[in-house]
Amino acid sequence: MSSRKNFSILDLRSLEKTKIDFLFSIADSVAASKSAPIQGFGKTGALLFFEASTRTRMSFETACARLGIHPLRLDGSAGSSLEKGETLEDTVLNVEAMKPAFLVIRCGDDLDLKDLSEKISTPILNAGWGKKGHPTQALLDAYTLRKHLGTCSGQKLLIVGDVRHSRVAASHFELAEKLGYEVALCGPKEFLPAQPPCRVFATLKEGLQWSTATMALRVQLERHENKYSLADYRDQYGFTAKNLQSLSDQALIMHPGPINQGIELDSDVLKDPRCKVLDQVSNGVLIRQSLIQMTLKEGE
Ligand code: ASP
Repeated sequence: MSSRKNFSILDLRSLEKTKIDFLFSIADSVAASKSAPIQGFGKTGALLFFEASTRTRMSFETACARLGIHPLRLDGSAGSSLEKGETLEDTVLNVEAMKPAFLVIRCGDDLDLKDLSEKISTPILNAGWGKKGHPTQALLDAYTLRKHLGTCSGQKLLIVGDVRHSRVAASHFELAEKLGYEVALCGPKEFLPAQPPCRVFATLKEGLQWSTATMALRVQLERHENKYSLADYRDQYGFTAKNLQSLSDQALIMHPGPINQGIELDSDVLKDPRCKVLDQVSNGVLIRQSLIQMTLKEGE
């Protein structure tokens, strides 16, 4: 959270555990009541997606609809003054001047959200920032763990695959410490950080045997310079029915999406009862809606 009074969520390092627990309890009550109190009538929320997104963008949009907030959407540069050469920062500052209740921003490393949050008082919710982090994804993953396994504390999350390019993994390293779950990694050395911040399993089999939940990451083909054999990848690290035999019956299978089916996860695995991929998406709406509710409350 930024040092200002506003409720920006740029990373999870500075979000207190009590706030995370509170967020999860709001999500529980939203899920139980199936409808949310309209809190945002007359308010707008800016959804600025300078990079591609399906789940994150549409779940924030759904959350806005449920709260009666009108979303101001910018998707990529098409049709905006970015095409005329306006900078990303100027674009954000101009949208902020229209006084939305919050700014949800997805961008690359070319925009400094931290710096922006020091310049403006409107809360910024990081919806995926370069390779730095994707806090709401890690929160919804943790909420999914808690929902199906009872608690996050003591869980063992094996993250498999392209960790080096993953902002999702980066946010889990921050969140795991807060919520008391352990993260371990598995994947070809080309896909792992040069200095992994946690335990690394040499084989998928060993990692799966250790884990209570496992998450395949998308092979981020757009960020790869050297081409790694995808057939070898699938064989050794892919979530195939054969490879997943080492995972216990109670463990969870997750993926943040979008999935390269047949590379990091096979289509038949989506039908495995342990697979919670679509539940993660539903939980994404709950978490983002709850986060917006908290943001509005903090602003009062
Ligand atoms: N949707 C996630 C992200 O935006 C994961 C991915 O793209 O692979 O980081």
